[in-house]
Amino acid sequence: MDGKKNILTKKVVIILVKFIILGPPGTGKGTLADGLSKRLRLKHISTGDLLRTEVKNASSLGKKIENVLSKGELVSDNLIKDLLKKNLPINDFILDGYPRTLEQATDLEKINEIDYVINLQSISEIIIKRLSARRICLNCKSVYGSNILPIVRGVCDKCGGSLIRRADDSPKTIENRLITYKKQTEPLINYYKEKIINIDGNNTPEIVLGITLKELNDRGIEARA
Ligand code: AMP
Repeated sequence: MDGKKNILTKKVVIILVKFIILGPPGTGKGTLADGLSKRLRLKHISTGDLLRTEVKNASSLGKKIENVLSKGELVSDNLIKDLLKKNLPINDFILDGYPRTLEQATDLEKINEIDYVINLQSISEIIIKRLSARRICLNCKSVYGSNILPIVRGVCDKCGGSLIRRADDSPKTIENRLITYKKQTEPLINYYKEKIINIDGNNTPEIVLGITLKELNDRGIEARA
């Protein structure tokens, strides 16, 4: 598969790229996906964000989803498949938080073929620390933490929005999310073994982005300025 895109000219070498980011909660998947989407001009699709938008709409479906999220469990494969189908482009995307089960991986195969799977790795002590300190901007979804503090406490540097702790970043839910990951999502690492790129997530967001871009560059996928 390496070099598949290299038969094209340099100018178009990064088009038609489809990625997944795998990794336990709190490894920085969202932050990395955001950085990659800007540098490679890909659409960033976070199923967690799509679900939180449903919750915000306070529909009856949103209320059911909220209940599942608050327990640190996964919403049903069928529900998430429908949500994904509505939001997945044909090309040039990075999927963050999907698939999370083997069933979802086979569902995805029927919709689209993925080129690479970035497996972001982190140790549990760091994950728990990060999730406990994480604050999200209610407005623009920027992420803050112990190593990225806002200038004014509780206020987003970028848009002035309020910073909140995600409801599922409470200690009990964090524990359940890690158990859910181990049981239902970790087997995907083996499922995608041919496409995996392992990335050490125990670093600052800038370093993790740099390492990932280098790995992708080695495979002929180049960042735009
Ligand atoms: P995230 O923002 O990716 O950490 O996702 C937050 C929560 O949304 C997860 O803990 C799950 O409850 C739910 N969720 C996100 N993506 C999926 C998915 N692909 N399948 C099932 N549940 C999901």
